[in-house]
Amino acid sequence: MNQKTGQTPAIRHALSTKREDDFAQWYQEVISEAEMAEESGVRGCMVIKPWGYGVWERIQRLMDDRIKAAGIQNCYFPLFIPLSYFAKEAEHVEGFAKEMAVVTHHRLIGDGKGSLVPDPEAKLEEPLIVRPTSETVIGQAMARWVQSWRDLPLMVNQWANVVRWEMRTRMFLRTSEFLWQEGHTAHANREDAVTETLRALEMYRDFAEDELAMPVIAGEKPENERFPGAVATYSIEAMMQDGKALQAGTSHYLGTGFAHAAGITFQDREGTQQYAHTTSWGTSTRMIGGLIMVHGDDDGLRVPPRVAPHQIVILPMLRETPEDDALLAYCEELRRSLTQLSALGEPVRVLLDKRPGKATQKRWAWVKKGVPLILEIGGRDAAAGQVSMLRRDRLWNDAAKANFVAMSKEDFVARAAGEIEDFQASLHAEAQARRDANISSASSFEELAVFFSEDKRYPGWVAVEWARPTGDELEAVVQKLKTLKLTMRNTPLEGEEAQGTCIFTGRPAVERIYIARSY
Ligand code: AMP
Repeated sequence: MNQKTGQTPAIRHALSTKREDDFAQWYQEVISEAEMAEESGVRGCMVIKPWGYGVWERIQRLMDDRIKAAGIQNCYFPLFIPLSYFAKEAEHVEGFAKEMAVVTHHRLIGDGKGSLVPDPEAKLEEPLIVRPTSETVIGQAMARWVQSWRDLPLMVNQWANVVRWEMRTRMFLRTSEFLWQEGHTAHANREDAVTETLRALEMYRDFAEDELAMPVIAGEKPENERFPGAVATYSIEAMMQDGKALQAGTSHYLGTGFAHAAGITFQDREGTQQYAHTTSWGTSTRMIGGLIMVHGDDDGLRVPPRVAPHQIVILPMLRETPEDDALLAYCEELRRSLTQLSALGEPVRVLLDKRPGKATQKRWAWVKKGVPLILEIGGRDAAAGQVSMLRRDRLWNDAAKANFVAMSKEDFVARAAGEIEDFQASLHAEAQARRDANISSASSFEELAVFFSEDKRYPGWVAVEWARPTGDELEAVVQKLKTLKLTMRNTPLEGEEAQGTCIFTGRPAVERIYIARSY
């Protein structure tokens, strides 16, 4: 409230589009205003800018630690995969055929009219596919590396870019080229492979909750959503602020199909030749899109401290006068004491932003980027041993002022780690409360249809019970849902047993499944 006028000032936000007015537009605006990424000129391919890439580097590091802790080693396979490798696994090639970029020539020549065209003399004997995923090429290596039961399990991961020619793209969420990690493992039997598939899923679930502060539901995908060639596909599903679902990571049990295709065989303890059971699992730069859609607000992004490139930014209010030296010295000393601290089990990451420019402009740039704690320090604060702290998750603003809290430098140093940890926890709690409040249930198809046809801005997800139909019966369900723009997300691994009847077939239900609009 304004003390003088007694009126609550109108809140002015740092972005021009509010989430509730146009969520898609708001998302694009966050990406550009937070300087996460920009269009590249090639459809579906983006330039990831330092702040966006900084978040990705944090994700990579934390995920890589988890992968290595599970005894998996990193390696690297080629970008180009011979077409024939794909042809060996029929379902796999069929699933990816429509999205594959193909290299057919290795040289261009002038056409005599000023343009370059593929040189017919330089046609490749066999076309090369720009990898959309690496099961086929890693399978070939596994066939060479695995001879006996002693070579199993074989567990590798690669960090790479992949290309899938997506028709409808959206920055981070669905791009034609994306960055990811793909884990690939081979095991002696089904049980070990399924255990690994579920271990990877649990790693993703815990990663999303703990590092990204993003609540997710881990479960099995219905048959029609399986990875091409997989026996079972599991996913983590997150709810975005507009109520839509995002598949944020997947883990597949591949059975022996890829082992048959690539010849991954081993001699078991009894001396018999057996096919290995394989798995694969992946998460990508899509997680950054999820982060924005889960934690962003009308002032931009809010980055969970675990994945924030800087957790604290110190902003000296420089005036380009000789007094700046004392102010900078004060800020530098503060920066040094803060880097001695640890929060969430790691050294605190602090940036002293010494760039010239107006402090308020710099402040709003950091607000839009979503750095958890911003410290503004003027010459008078420095003289008095003070700082002004802004917590990005507790921001309100009246035109130009933000809710800074003043305190002594010592007090801030004493509470900084606690603020960072509390920030991480409160983002998670906020997202979880919103997610839980937006999950409903329906006990008939009509109820489901009415629910999604009502004019709700953010309808959220609906849990239903079903009999897990297959084949044509499943296809009919998929089509029926499609008319309502709905998809089946997953069957949660944890939760209540089904008790009623299938809302699609009327038969006794065997499990629950989430239905939602999705990205
Ligand atoms: P998949 O190999 O199809 O199971 O994909 C593994 C994970 O990569 C998915 O769960 C998504 O999180 C992510 N992903 C798939 N396609 C894209 C895309 N076009 N852009 C960004 N991420 C993607």
